Amino acid sequence: MQPFEYASPKTLKEALALLGASWADAAVLAGGTDLLGLMKDGVAAPKRVVNIKEIAELKGIAATPKGLRIGALATVDEMLTSPALRAFPALTEAARGVSSAQIRNMGTLGGDLCQRPRCWYFRAGFGLIPTHAGKNLVTEGDSRYHAILGGGPAQFVSASSFGPALVALNAKVLVASSAGTREVEAAKFFVAPLNNDARETALLPNEIVTGVLIPTASGVKNATYEVRQKDALDWPLATASVALTMKGSTVASAKIVLGHVGPTPYTAEAAAQSLAGKAITAETAAAAGKAAVGPAKPLKDNAYKVQIAAVAVKRALLAAAGVKS
Ligand SMILES: Cc1cc2nc3c(=O)[nH]c(=O)nc-3n(C[C@H](O)[C@H](O)[C@H](O)COP(=O)(O)OP(=O)(O)OC[C@H]3O[C@@H](n4cnc5c(N)ncnc54)[C@H](O)[C@@H]3O)c2cc1C
Repeated sequence: MQPFEYASPKTLKEALALLGASWADAAVLAGGTDLLGLMKDGVAAPKRVVNIKEIAELKGIAATPKGLRIGALATVDEMLTSPALRAFPALTEAARGVSSAQIRNMGTLGGDLCQRPRCWYFRAGFGLIPTHAGKNLVTEGDSRYHAILGGGPAQFVSASSFGPALVALNAKVLVASSAGTREVEAAKFFVAPLNNDARETALLPNEIVTGVLIPTASGVKNATYEVRQKDALDWPLATASVALTMKGSTVASAKIVLGHVGPTPYTAEAAAQSLAGKAITAETAAAAGKAAVGPAKPLKDNAYKVQIAAVAVKRALLAAAGVKS
C-alpha cells in the first residue's frame, strides 16, 4: 500500500476543505469495506484519506418537510432495521441482501452508492473500460458477470443495490462541496463512463455525499427482488426495484429499475408504461419483465442474466402489489 496522510475531521466543512481537485489528492473513508481493499490492491492510491465517521451531521435517518433524509453515514444495518424505512421495502430488501452482518454494520449508504465496480478487470487495475494489447478484456475475456443492458463502452455493472431502489423511489442524492450544496436525482447520480479517466458517478473529487432524500408520497407500493447465485458473501446477479402508484386495483403509474445488469441502474420505461391501467397479476407482471429485458444485448458469457432479470421484475412487481406468485 502507498503511504498516505490520514485526517479525521469533526465537521463537514473541515472534511470538504481536506479534499482536492483530483481523485489522487484525497479519498473519503466511511466504513472502509470497499476503499481499504482497493488501496491494499493498489487500485486506489490517494495521497490523503479523509475519515468522515466522526461527522455527526452525516448521521441519522429523519423525516423532514421535503421527505425522508437518510444520512450518508447511516449503516446498511440501520437502514435494514429503522422503523422510518418501513414504507420503503424496496430499500430495506436491498439492505437485507448485503452480506454479511459485519459488512452491514460497517458499510454505509454513502459508501454503497460510491463503491467502485466489482468487475474483475477493474479490480485487477485495468480500468473501467479495460483493454490490454489492443483487446477489450470484457468482450474478449470472461464476461459472465458483466452488463446486458445499457452497456458500451463500459461493460461493468453498477454494484450498488441501493441505487436502483433510490431511482425507483425518485430519490435525490445530497452532495456538498466547499462551494455549496446540490441535489442530484438518483437516476443522474450514476453515470456510464465513456473513458478510463471518467468516473461512474456524478460526484466530483472535491465533493461528499451527505445523504439522500426520498419523497414520502403516501401509498406508493414498492419492492426489490434480488436473484443471487447462492446465499453467500456476494453481490446479486440481477435485481429489480419497482414503485407503483395505484388507482384502486389498477396501476396509475409505475417505475421499474433493474440493478446489476448495466453500468448504471437501468430504468425500463416502456415496460413500466405498459402496466398503466392494468392490475398486477402473474401475467401482466411476467409480460412487464419480458418487456424490460427486450433491449438486452448480452455478451458472450452472460445471456443467462436476461431471463433472471425478467424474473426479478416479475417478482418485484408481484411483491409490491402484494400478489402471491
Ligand atoms: C462481501 C460483500 C458483499 C456485498 N454485497 C453487496 C450487495 O449485495 N449489494 C450492495 O449494494 N453492496 C454490497 N456490498 C458493498 C457494501 O455495501 C459496500 O462495501 C459498503 O456499503 C461501502 O460502504 P463503506 O462505508 O464501507 O464505504 P468505503 O469503503 O468507506 O467507501 C467506498 C467508496 O465510497 C467513497 N465514499 C464513501 N462514503 C462517501 C461519501 N459520503 N461521500 C463521497 N464518497 C464516499 C469512498 O471514497 C470509496 O471510494 C458488499 C460488500 C462486501 C464486502
